[in-house]
Amino acid sequence: MKYYILFGPPGAGKGTQAGAIACKYNLKHVSTGELLRNEIAQGTELGTMAKSLIESGSLVPDYVVEGMIEHLFHTTSGVAGFLLDGFPRTIRQAEDLDKILSSRNEKVNAVISLMISDDTIRERLKHRAEVEGRADDASEETISNRISTYHRKTEPLKEYYKADGKYFEVPGDGLGIEDVREKVFDLFNGIDSSFLSRQVVIDEALFRKLEAEAHDSPRLRMNYDLRNSTEDDSQRMLNVWLPDSKLVIHRHRNSNETIIILKGEMDVVLYNDDGTEAERYHMGGKYGVYGINVTKGTWHTVEAFDLAITFTAKDGAWAPNAKEDILNIQENTTVFHNEAK
Ligand code: AMP
Repeated sequence: MKYYILFGPPGAGKGTQAGAIACKYNLKHVSTGELLRNEIAQGTELGTMAKSLIESGSLVPDYVVEGMIEHLFHTTSGVAGFLLDGFPRTIRQAEDLDKILSSRNEKVNAVISLMISDDTIRERLKHRAEVEGRADDASEETISNRISTYHRKTEPLKEYYKADGKYFEVPGDGLGIEDVREKVFDLFNGIDSSFLSRQVVIDEALFRKLEAEAHDSPRLRMNYDLRNSTEDDSQRMLNVWLPDSKLVIHRHRNSNETIIILKGEMDVVLYNDDGTEAERYHMGGKYGVYGINVTKGTWHTVEAFDLAITFTAKDGAWAPNAKEDILNIQENTTVFHNEAK
């Protein structure tokens, strides 16, 4: 088994990136924060104990998180390894993790660190409070406490893992989600070249995993990069779309886009320059329509009514859509420029 740690301050994007990383490298994503929030939501004894600590921005006792982690190590199978997110958070926890792993003849393989400045942390947590309504993102006081807890207790882990040559950093300030993801994938491929030769079989098991990731994503969709290396400058990916996933109307001026539907059904909608609908194609087995080649420069989007999984291919390396390649941006519409592809 491989053991990777996704490291970084609150708001660095660990949760956002973890799903895609876990999916691509067949890892079990373990977020101690998420596990604790589930305990709170279920009103368990553990959840009741953790609630006030989490809401004040403090850490819960080591034995609680370590118990959860050990339980998962014992009970998880069918994966290449674990992606730990939010654990370890103190030197003490890192030492305990080393002990737990060495008792299994295992070790931490690498620490992938997403680094952002305190200003970016504040900005992101405030935004997340609006979007996700997390109580521990809500007040200035809690945010400040989380930042200072991070600097005092968690940041020293950098040196702990650097000393072991296991620390790899991706600077996240000013980068979009996709840019960070590319850099993280590059790192993984560099750290562990066995990933480069991994055959990806597009089967129901992969679909089920991607569907679960899409459900966990606030965007209600998920893309799965089929390249093993970012030196491969084509764009070939699987996309999972859930109903209500909103994709802006956009165009690609330098490439056709081939969209083949593999599962479910969806509409591909083409637009005129004035934003009026030009053509709509129902795609899926039920309609006998399996794909479309959207020509270079055509405004388009997709609308999923149920689960849909597509294979998409375009020329050239991925780059975020420029503002002028997104049509009709309405106020209050959440625009994910870097996801409009
Ligand atoms: P996160 O979702 O990782 O930001 O975690 C949310 C909160 O859960 C933290 O602010 C802590 O209160 C608690 N928590 C998560 N992981 C740990 C950990 N490894 N040790 C102690 N407390 C944790």
